[in-house]
Amino acid sequence: MTFTLPELPYAHNSLEPVISEKTISFHYGKHHQAYVNNLNGLIGGTEFENSDLDTIVKKSDGPIFNNAAQIWNHNFYFFSLTPEKGSVPSDKLLNAIKTTWGSLDNFKAEFNKAAATVFGSGWAWLVKDDDGKLSIIKESNAGNPMTRGLIPLLTFDVWEHAYYIDYQNRRPDYIAALWALVNWKAVSDRY
Ligand code: MN
Repeated sequence: MTFTLPELPYAHNSLEPVISEKTISFHYGKHHQAYVNNLNGLIGGTEFENSDLDTIVKKSDGPIFNNAAQIWNHNFYFFSLTPEKGSVPSDKLLNAIKTTWGSLDNFKAEFNKAAATVFGSGWAWLVKDDDGKLSIIKESNAGNPMTRGLIPLLTFDVWEHAYYIDYQNRRPDYIAALWALVNWKAVSDRY
């Protein structure tokens, strides 16, 4: 199948000042688009020619995995953000977060620590396992928790291309600011 870049569910300047329109123009318009173009160029004539994206992420490796997982991760990242204010976790998810980390603030502190300490390029994830148990994990490069049998709930992209235009080397500032954009309804619906 031919993959396409999904339309973002918000205006490209609506995440400012946390994420600038210029960052969206490069991160979504160039990097995300490039992964889509690359994957379309790679899968022709392979066993993945007619596979959906989840299947390719779970079963491929090498360049096909890298580009497929980067499409998946970016779709998930961009659709986990919203310019709407006042987004909060569902009671069910909040209770699970409190059981695991004591409080929402403490969860955020632990997540921030994980995101800040991904060495090089990668992703921080909130995931659940088959029993609904929550955890925070780090993935390098295009890593995706589904390859470990985990269910993704939220991710922060900590590749430099996600923040360098707006924050330069200050990754912790980008991470701290990003919480204001988290679409907790989307995250809660996945739990
Ligand atoms: Mn990215």
